[in-house]
Amino acid sequence: MDRSSGLNFFALLCAEPLVVVLIGPGGVGKGTLAARLIEREPRLWLSRSWTTREKRPVERGDEYVFVDDATFRRAIDEGRFLEWAAFHEHLYGTPLPDAPQDRDVLLEIEVQGAEQVRARFPDATVFLILPPSLFELEERLRLRGDHEAHVRQRLSSTPHELARGQALASYTIVNDDLERATSEILSILEGLRQLRRNPSSKD
Ligand code: 5GP
Repeated sequence: MDRSSGLNFFALLCAEPLVVVLIGPGGVGKGTLAARLIEREPRLWLSRSWTTREKRPVERGDEYVFVDDATFRRAIDEGRFLEWAAFHEHLYGTPLPDAPQDRDVLLEIEVQGAEQVRARFPDATVFLILPPSLFELEERLRLRGDHEAHVRQRLSSTPHELARGQALASYTIVNDDLERATSEILSILEGLRQLRRNPSSKD
């Protein structure tokens, strides 16, 4: 980690921006939701994760920093991740945030990583994103071009991810309609910001 990102991380702790985490089973549309959230709310800064998995044919290439296993493990040893986890045979991690000041940090990660974030930031707001149905989840996984074996593997871990996610989540959002789900999250965040500005408005 370079010194400037270390300082920014310190500033992030002092200025107390919101730390917002989206979790939910693969295929539920967290990535699309995160993209829409930052489009509609410029105060949100989306962290770009690292992964050792291959880029999917449908991906542009800027969804992640795609690295090999050795590079990822070196970054772990150097303490460069806020959190990291092994998920379905690949590694995923959030680099220590380098967010501009006064921006709220948005993370789109799986549940083991979210547990680590909550341990570091007890005030982190965790949204569990749910599909309208399991059938729809299966369809979405296929549409994004995953191999059949991957679709099966991901669906098999969904109940476990959901149970852990429910235990962690501050809010549960059903992603039946992108704009509606986005608005619901933004209005919750606005309420939290108001509460930070004026804690006495809690009652
Ligand atoms: P996918 O391979 O489908 O892009 O992502 C698989 C899972 O890893 C998703 O649930 C996604 O949210 C999660 N993920 C993406 N980036 C990170 C990260 O930086 N840390 C953790 N723990 N999970 C991540």
